[in-house]
Amino acid sequence: MNKDLLSALEVTSGSTLKEALAKLERSGCGILTLVGEGRRFERTITDGDLRRLILEGSALTDRLDLLQAIKSHTASEGMSRRDALELMNRHAIHSLPVIGVDGVVVDVIFRRDIDEQVLLSTPHIGDAEREFVEQAFLTNWIAPLGPNVDAFETELCTFVGSAHGAAVSSGTAAIHLGLRLLGVGPGDRVFCSTLTFAASANPIVYQGAEPVFIDSEMSSWNMCPTALERAFAIAASEGWSPKAVIVVNLYGQSADMDPIREICSSYDVPILEDAAESLGATYKGRHSGTIGKIGIYSFNGNKIITTSGGGMLISDDREIVDRARFLATQARDPAPYYQHSEVGYNYRMSNILAGVGRGQLHVLKSRVERRRRIFDQYREGLAGLQSLEWMPEPEWSFSNRWLTTATISADAAISSTELIQRLASELIEARPVWKPMHLQPVFAGTRYFTAGNSSVSDDLFERGICLPSSSNMTSSQLDRVIDTIKRIFT
Ligand SMILES: *Cc1c(COP(=O)(O)O)cnc(C)c1O
Repeated sequence: MNKDLLSALEVTSGSTLKEALAKLERSGCGILTLVGEGRRFERTITDGDLRRLILEGSALTDRLDLLQAIKSHTASEGMSRRDALELMNRHAIHSLPVIGVDGVVVDVIFRRDIDEQVLLSTPHIGDAEREFVEQAFLTNWIAPLGPNVDAFETELCTFVGSAHGAAVSSGTAAIHLGLRLLGVGPGDRVFCSTLTFAASANPIVYQGAEPVFIDSEMSSWNMCPTALERAFAIAASEGWSPKAVIVVNLYGQSADMDPIREICSSYDVPILEDAAESLGATYKGRHSGTIGKIGIYSFNGNKIITTSGGGMLISDDREIVDRARFLATQARDPAPYYQHSEVGYNYRMSNILAGVGRGQLHVLKSRVERRRRIFDQYREGLAGLQSLEWMPEPEWSFSNRWLTTATISADAAISSTELIQRLASELIEARPVWKPMHLQPVFAGTRYFTAGNSSVSDDLFERGICLPSSSNMTSSQLDRVIDTIKRIFT
């Protein structure tokens, strides 16, 4: 709040009731500050206070020294948004004068200006979605099948350049189907990126198999080819081989697929590409998710595009995708009655949600541009902070920058954990980088391979931070996050 506005709210005990009412009316802030000698703050005055004076018989020409001295609620300089809101909530008030060290009002905080929360990654729906959904209603195609599902599969496959796709109820379901189709079963082992969300690895356990985790490399944060090579070599020396390798493309960026593919094909082991976070990103010009034998996408609410919940399994192998559809619809045999020769799942996407997906596909390109722009603005706005290092984008990568992520140098004044807490107290949602799977209690005792003596993913987890990156965040919200981070560091 600027000096002019502050003085527009200021009255003294010598001011008349009429003057005070006029100031209240002009400022429209619903609050005045009564100041004494040296402009030191004495109390706040609301229109209720003035109304009561008049009801008690005061005249408009009477002076404000009729008001009783009370102790008004105030904030101190630097009070966090959360603390200020808590104070206002506790006392059912909507504004707080901020008092500087010399007792003078330096600012007034209004609830409506500070109660806005900036979230990490929110759904961002456009206009086209409604038409597709409406079409589903009009034609009564409400089933987990239908024209939107078929069209969504075709349209997404065209976009990424894959031959076939099966729309399913979640990214997790797509991974589960993918593993089953790669023949993963009880007693098998599956290599999986350690730095990821648990949904990458859980389906390994659904299949009765055992996950073996592989470390990241610093240059992409994704699976380290050297660590993978080492894991294969050690496995071979022990006389076993994994049934599949799940390569995760983290935070919108592809892993370095060429060397990974070379290693996997030399051992004749298929790759399942978990591109849940990286739809719209490319690796050497090819779409993320299309490089492994099977790729999967997620359309969960926080992802770059959403169907509120959903996923897709893609592959150039028609047989795999046909089998995925078959298993996802309860594995019904082509018979005149309900006959099943295998155990299936209820994993298909509904025709309504596929309508949302079709609309979202129209805006995918602009969502990627927006998220990349948000990343650039963070990088430009925080260029002065030496302690922040952004997630790199190797020359072979075009990231969708699903989340803007960075690490904080170990010798910085503040750790990532502290920064996340400080941002939370300013109603800004930041998160740590995914906790690696080999550190998860649920996967305690599983094997883990690094390239050398140190674990890159442990380091990224300890020092990493994900910043608010919603494609529909406003530029003033983005500025607020940038300014708050600057303030916390200096
Ligand atoms: C979101 C996510 C998934 C799971 O997708 P859902 O649609 O939520 O089941 C899998 N892997 C990664 C890396 C993810 O971020």
